[in-house]
Amino acid sequence: MEFLQPADLPEALAAKAAHPDAVPLWGGTDVMVELNFARRRPEAILDLTRVSELAEWDGGNGRLRIGAGVTYTRAIAELGDRLPGLARASRTVGSPQIRNRGTIGGNLGSSSPAGDALPPLYASGAEIELASAEGTRRVPVEQFITGPKRNVLEPGELIAAFHVPAATGPQQFSKVGTRNAMVIAVCSFALSLDPEGRRVGTCIGSAAPTPVRAGEAERFAEGVLEEEGLWDSRAPIGAAALARFGELAAAAASPIDDVRGSAAYRRHALSVLARRTLGWAWDELCA
Ligand SMILES: Cc1cc2nc3c(=O)[nH]c(=O)nc-3n(C[C@H](O)[C@H](O)[C@H](O)COP(=O)(O)OP(=O)(O)OC[C@H]3O[C@@H](n4cnc5c(N)ncnc54)[C@H](O)[C@@H]3O)c2cc1C
Repeated sequence: MEFLQPADLPEALAAKAAHPDAVPLWGGTDVMVELNFARRRPEAILDLTRVSELAEWDGGNGRLRIGAGVTYTRAIAELGDRLPGLARASRTVGSPQIRNRGTIGGNLGSSSPAGDALPPLYASGAEIELASAEGTRRVPVEQFITGPKRNVLEPGELIAAFHVPAATGPQQFSKVGTRNAMVIAVCSFALSLDPEGRRVGTCIGSAAPTPVRAGEAERFAEGVLEEEGLWDSRAPIGAAALARFGELAAAAASPIDDVRGSAAYRRHALSVLARRTLGWAWDELCA
C-alpha cells in the first residue's frame, strides 16, 4: 500500500489528482477500523495530518469557516460558545481518545446517518467546501450527503472545510444510545434557535438513510412562535404545541428495525427528544 504524506494543501490536492483512488486519512478512527477488519484494501492512503491549512478555523462577520481537520476535542474547547449544538454533539462522540483523534471532516467523509457531528450542521444550514487541483466549490450539507455512506465528493476532491453561521441563540443536541459513552446513536436530534432571523432549525440523526431535517416541525414551531407573539413576549411555549412539534419531528424520520432499536422505538424516542430540545432551548433563550 502506498502511503502519501503531503506537507501542505497544494501538495495534498496534487497527490489526490495524481492518485484519485487514494483514501484520505485524518484521525483514522473510521479508516483504520475498515483496514483492520479488511473491509477496505486501498492501493494508497493519503495522510492529511501534516496539512496544517485543514486544521485551522476562523470566524469573521458571524460566519465561521472550520477546517476539515478540526477534532471534536477542539470543537468543544474552541467553538463551544459559537456553535453550542456542535459542541454538545461532540461531547457524545466515542471516548476522549476518539474525540482527540476524530475530526468533523472525517465524520462528513464517512457520511454515516449516525454521524453525530452531522445533525448540528444540518440544523444550522452548513455548507461544505470541497477542494481539488482545479479549484473549490461549496455544497449545502443536505446535498453533500446522498445516502448511507455516500456523498458527492469527486475522486480528485478533498473536504477542505465547512461554513456555518455562528449561533445567534440556543442550540441543543440530544442522543439516545444503549449506554452513556462509546455508543452509536439509536437516534438523535439537533435543534437551533435563531431569534434574530426568527427561525427554528432541526435535524434527525440515525433514523433515515441520511440525516434529515424535520421541515414541517420547523414551520409549525416558527408559526406558533410568530402567531402567539412568543419571540417578543418570551412567554413559555404551551405543552400542546411542544407535543405537536415532537409528533411532526418523529413523522419526518424513516427509521428501520435493527440491532440498536426498532423503528417504532426510534419514532417514539424522536418525538420525546424533539419536544425536550425545543423546551430546553426556549427556556435558555428566556432565562
Ligand atoms: C471506538 C469508536 C467510537 C466512535 N464513536 C463515535 C460516535 O460516538 N459518534 C460518531 O459520530 N462517530 C463515532 N466513531 C466514528 C469516528 O470516530 C467518526 O466518524 C470520526 O469523525 C471520523 O473522523 P476521523 O478524522 O478519524 O476520520 P478518518 O477515519 O480519518 O476518515 C473517515 C472518512 O472520511 C474520509 N476523509 C477524512 N478526511 C477527509 C478529507 N479532508 N477529505 C475527504 N475525505 C476525508 C476518509 O477517507 C474516510 O472515508 C467512533 C469510532 C470508534 C473507533
